[in-house]
Amino acid sequence: MPLDRLKISANFDNYETKCHCKDESCQHGAKFVPDAKNPGKFRSEMHPRLLDGLEQLRALACEEVGRDVPLIITSGGRCPPYNHAIGGNSNSEHLRCAAVDCFCPHLPIEKLAELAKKVPAFANGGIGVCKARNFLHLDVGPKSHFVYPGKTHDRAPEVSDPKTPIILDQPKKAVEEKQTEEPTPEPAPRPTRGRSLKR
Ligand SMILES: [Zn+2]
Ligand SMILES: [Zn+2]
Repeated sequence: MPLDRLKISANFDNYETKCHCKDESCQHGAKFVPDAKNPGKFRSEMHPRLLDGLEQLRALACEEVGRDVPLIITSGGRCPPYNHAIGGNSNSEHLRCAAVDCFCPHLPIEKLAELAKKVPAFANGGIGVCKARNFLHLDVGPKSHFVYPGKTHDRAPEVSDPKTPIILDQPKKAVEEKQTEEPTPEPAPRPTRGRSLKR
């Protein structure tokens, strides 16, 4: 049965959180489950607290930039084979639909992490910054180990998808900007001899 594309919150839909594996029958992260709080209704299988947190973070990003900007999810729910294939942690919250990796093409990743700290769902751990690959890992699992900044991680931020994800509604401009924002490696500082002239 083909999967309908449906909203899972005000600004996100189930295709954005769907597993990126090649198994066409895999709907991990895109399914709906009975909503315990609203009998007879259904909600996304993505953790409700995670979705609330994402909406709050998106609102903070828009406020920071001063206009409507997208928060782009590069990885949401993952089935176990896919999580394994891309080198995700074997106990990843992505497996339980309680994590996403994301970025905002209009904000440095450190700034987005700062904003995420203001979101109660993520404030007490659950924020991982992958500066090298420009994404934020956000989770609401009970065993969140990420704290940013300050304490060191007890595990490395999980890898996001190795390939650029297909974001169906992603504005073209955002993609272009993302590409030009790739960090250019800085030259290594030259070893200096003797005292610096500056005091
Ligand atoms: Zn899958
Ligand atoms: Zn992640």
